[in-house]
Amino acid sequence: MTDLPTLDHWINGAPASGASTRTAPVFDPARGVAQKNVRMASAADLGTAVAAARAAFPGWRDTSIAKRQSVLFTFRELLNKRSGELAAILTSEHGKVLSDAGGEIARGLEVVEFACSMPTLIKGEYSENVSTGIDVYSLKQPLGVVGIISPFNFPAMVPLWFFPLAIAAGNTVVLKPSEKDPSAANWMAELMKEAGLPDGVLNVVHGDKEAVDALLTHPDVASISFVGSTPIARYIYETASANGKRVQALGGAKNHMLVLPDADLDLAADAAVNAGFGSAGERCMAISVVLAVDAVADALIEKITERMATLKTGDGRRGCDMGPLITGVHRDKVSGYIDVAAADGATVVVDGRGVTPDGDANGFWLGPTLLDKVPLSSAAYTDEIFGPVLSIVRVEGYEQGLDIINSSQYGNGTAIFTNDGGAARRFQNEVSVGMIGINVPIPVPVAYHSFGGWKDSLFGDSKAYGPAGIAFFTREKAVTSRWLDPSHGGLNLGFPQHD
Ligand code: NAD
Repeated sequence: MTDLPTLDHWINGAPASGASTRTAPVFDPARGVAQKNVRMASAADLGTAVAAARAAFPGWRDTSIAKRQSVLFTFRELLNKRSGELAAILTSEHGKVLSDAGGEIARGLEVVEFACSMPTLIKGEYSENVSTGIDVYSLKQPLGVVGIISPFNFPAMVPLWFFPLAIAAGNTVVLKPSEKDPSAANWMAELMKEAGLPDGVLNVVHGDKEAVDALLTHPDVASISFVGSTPIARYIYETASANGKRVQALGGAKNHMLVLPDADLDLAADAAVNAGFGSAGERCMAISVVLAVDAVADALIEKITERMATLKTGDGRRGCDMGPLITGVHRDKVSGYIDVAAADGATVVVDGRGVTPDGDANGFWLGPTLLDKVPLSSAAYTDEIFGPVLSIVRVEGYEQGLDIINSSQYGNGTAIFTNDGGAARRFQNEVSVGMIGINVPIPVPVAYHSFGGWKDSLFGDSKAYGPAGIAFFTREKAVTSRWLDPSHGGLNLGFPQHD
């Protein structure tokens, strides 16, 4: 694979090859072939990026909010204008269909727009005359060098959840994207430079555990924002916290959709198919389990099956509905769960292994798959499959459905489909999940609310973006100030009290 192009790191405003000679292949999943190599950083390469970010920090921190805001405004304009280029990169390395890549960029752009209002978001508070002649006010200041580690499934949107807010707040960044689809990060970093960002403020380092471990333990890194699978999220949280860093670590998911008998079944079937098979199920907010109340389960399955029959699986550049999986290994792992479910007693209603894709035969294909009567003890139910496999679990009613959701180790997203406002209200109150949809299947909050799950779907106490993102990327100072007038003064060793 030596004749393939090699993607460099992006350090101090320019491509950088680093000292490490390790590389990894980047595939085109719809063709099943490597299209480039990506450099895999050593700890020393990571250190070079942190040093660049550290050197850029004082100047960027002291740059006016207006100037920082104007860079974000320009970035927004450029990203809007050139989103087609980025979408093509996403489709070619991740495999998701072009329209879905466009959706990913649009949701990321929302956070850029939110970051453009940093002058308002970073305002402190002021209390005048808390004691005679004394004022107290708070300041929100940046942390310094912040680290971001992102997963393969949203190579543009997840970095965009973090770096625009971090940078607008005055921090400098080292981003370690997924090595499986790394090019989007370089493309965005270059665009930030074009938008006027000074060199060193946003750096991209490619790699694997070696680079991540160096970031987690580097003394000049103040915080870590991580999104990925639960075992790695837990490791990141524990390691980075033990190294004195502020950490937000978002993990995996197993999202349930509860369909009550009074639901609009056509709406519920559309939702289950869209949220189950969009992006080939490789979304942390995908619906992977439909909890169907017995009374409507057969009718719902029939409607879901009808819709699945219309889905076209194939190359995302050809106007298909669903693309390939990220790698051959992952495709095989996902399709293995179909055997597991069947062996455990589930019914395979639609088997995606027989799909005829509109694309290269070597692509990492698996068609939409529907399993019914999946036992709760089966690994097909308990594991996060992260592919186009939708499981039906039949329940007697609301209580049993709620119980199942609340027994899951995960608590990222969930949805209820019902026309009963009282049931929906009870659900939002009783369910142990961080993001809830009521007749909405993928309840990803807008940028001015915050994103994050409960339980093993999030480690640390900070969600991503929204108000939580501002709090995460800033630290507060409280200033108590007195400007003396000649009447003040004198000795008093007592604890300060108000007068
Ligand atoms: P992953 O955990 O394998 O990788 C995430 C990042 O961690 C990558 O940058 C990777 O290089 C790095 N990494 C992998 N193994 C590591 C190790 N042993 N030590 C240190 N770093 C390591 O996740 P993925 O497969 O890229 O992404 C899919 C997962 O991400 C799914 O579980 C999905 O649910 C989750 N996800 C969660 C959210 C959320 O908001 N909760 C959003 C998107 C994806």
